[in-house]
Amino acid sequence: MSLSHAWLDDVRPSSYADQLALGFRWLRFSRPLENEYREALRDDTYDLKRIALSVGMLIWLAFAAFDFVLIQAPEVWWMLGIRLVVLLLLIILSGLLLQRRHIHLLQPLSLVAILALGVGASLVVGLAHRVDPGYPYEGLLLVCMASYFLVGLRLSEALVCSLLILLTYIAAELLMADMPVPRLINNSLFLLFGNLMGAVGCYLLEFKSREHFLISRLMRVLADQDSLTGLHNRRSFNRQFERLWRQAQRERRSLALLLCDIDHFKAYNDRYGHQAGDSVLQRVGSLLLDAARRPLDMAVRLGGEEFAVLLYDIDVAQARQHAEALRQTLQTQAIEHAGSDTAAMLTMSIGVACIRPEESGALAQLYEHADRALYEAKAFGRNQVVA
Ligand code: GH3
Ligand code: MG
Ligand code: MG
Repeated sequence: MSLSHAWLDDVRPSSYADQLALGFRWLRFSRPLENEYREALRDDTYDLKRIALSVGMLIWLAFAAFDFVLIQAPEVWWMLGIRLVVLLLLIILSGLLLQRRHIHLLQPLSLVAILALGVGASLVVGLAHRVDPGYPYEGLLLVCMASYFLVGLRLSEALVCSLLILLTYIAAELLMADMPVPRLINNSLFLLFGNLMGAVGCYLLEFKSREHFLISRLMRVLADQDSLTGLHNRRSFNRQFERLWRQAQRERRSLALLLCDIDHFKAYNDRYGHQAGDSVLQRVGSLLLDAARRPLDMAVRLGGEEFAVLLYDIDVAQARQHAEALRQTLQTQAIEHAGSDTAAMLTMSIGVACIRPEESGALAQLYEHADRALYEAKAFGRNQVVA
């Protein structure tokens, strides 16, 4: 299957977009993405697995009742014994699954459950065929289908399970039931073709699931990103600020906001054109990104030529130094701006404000203080920092 997403070129660089463009015919992403996908799949299929396990146990019990009715020979007690062992195993597994703290074991437990059902069913069929060659073996296909579609396994896992079940079935027929080879070939081919259909369906399903994962993650990134600079947008800033503020209050840390506004940017656009203006915004964006390198800092494009840097665990004096360094960095880039009244090159003004964890009001207050400082920086002649 191929993916033709011409729009992907516009949204790079993003690992999700790169993987979409690269494709994943073999149902495998690059390492970190693969881990992320498996984690998401695990969370997504948690409820599905619990339902599947309950349904599986009910069907298993129903088949046990059929065995009791269909087979009138001592073998039936062995068959019921096997069914009981598998049932007990499933009960233990569902006990573990019900506790979310074992979620990291979800995939191995699902594999064990499917294999227990498949191997158990193969042994039961082998025993039944000793006394009744007409005993239905097709139920094995149900277990294989469950591994492809019901328990949220990846194709590779489902294939391995189904292959093991098929091999156990062949071994059980040969060793326990002494089944004639032509009939065994006939039965095995039926199971094999059934599996082939299951595998194709499972491939399509996993391919679409992976595609959906990449696209939805990419959409989430794009929704929080400014398309020109790649910085956080205002929406993302507002949302993340709340989270960061709660963390700062818990850890008793201060936050600082640097509001940055390019000086005489309208004049720059008028003189050098909108395209050149966009490149300048991108350059300023990458400077801000460098200034917000620590894990909890963030650089934001609030809109137009207004940016913000949010700094975690910093006092007002340090924040001021940070802002001053940022202002100087832009100045030393010496981007010519002949239309500016205040300097020969492009500059910016920065308003700084700080909020301590014991204060209230948070974003509104912090923003208001920084905005007032920025206003003063502009009023005092631009290209300066006011805290
Ligand atoms: P001041 O020194 O007082 O900040 O003056 P200014 O000209 O920088 O401020 P003003 O708010 O008057 O003008 C902002 C300009 O930013 C106007 C608009 O043309 C320009 N602008 C806003 N968004 C974009 C953008 O995405 N690309 C480009 N190239 N220009 C933009
Ligand atoms: Mg401006
Ligand atoms: Mg402005």
